[in-house]
Amino acid sequence: MDSVLAPGPLPLTGTAAHYLLSVMRLAVGDPVRLFDDRTGEWLATVGAVRKRDLILDIGDHLAEREAVPDLWLCAAPLKKGRIDWLVEKACELGVDRVVPTLTRRAVVDAPKLDRLRAHMVEAAEQCGRTALPTLADPVKLPALLREWPAGRRLFFADETGGGDPLATMRAHAGPAAILIGPEGGFDDAERELVRAHAAAVPISLGPRILRADTAAAAAVSLWMAAAGD
Ligand code: SAM
Repeated sequence: MDSVLAPGPLPLTGTAAHYLLSVMRLAVGDPVRLFDDRTGEWLATVGAVRKRDLILDIGDHLAEREAVPDLWLCAAPLKKGRIDWLVEKACELGVDRVVPTLTRRAVVDAPKLDRLRAHMVEAAEQCGRTALPTLADPVKLPALLREWPAGRRLFFADETGGGDPLATMRAHAGPAAILIGPEGGFDDAERELVRAHAAAVPISLGPRILRADTAAAAAVSLWMAAAGD
């Protein structure tokens, strides 16, 4: 939920109401679990249904917002179905922030943030996350690097990287981000720019060239394993 939840009635309209009534097929009296990013998870029941709108009665507070591993995923926009899959898997695997990162060889422009956010909400609901990842505004790669926060490592996934990614990630514990390129990969100037950055640590994901969405899921899974999350 975007708003902060509290006990009492909560009117719902639009996409959220459509999801509960038409997709989940909830009716009056049915229980539903809700969460927001500040207060965590709540138990509610469907109090009333009016055509396409409904009112939920929010009751018990079930859980505080979960502690989320401090991992960002900076990924170039991909074609529609593939970027949708990427944000869904990032959310399921526990990423805290997704940063659409604009690179030269991307075959699509900036992604539709509303659609991606909806995929994140659905993924969080299905995997029981009580903290939704943040979806940042798209940023060009040079600006991302210029404004890079101190103390956050940047694992640069690139086919030209080398070594053991798990060992590399274990050797650089703490707040981190993973950078994944577009369908066309990074160009040489971008590679140089990233490699020259103080926070950057190149990683290889093996000898095969993975699709960008596969590479993102693999790199995030490795980081979670390295961090014990
Ligand atoms: N053309 C394919 C596609 O449509 O997705 C492959 C694209 S691959 C060049 C996209 C990105 O995935 C790369 O820029 C890199 O970040 C990551 N990647 C793919 N294979 C990798 C590997 N073996 N090691 C490290 N990163 C990899």
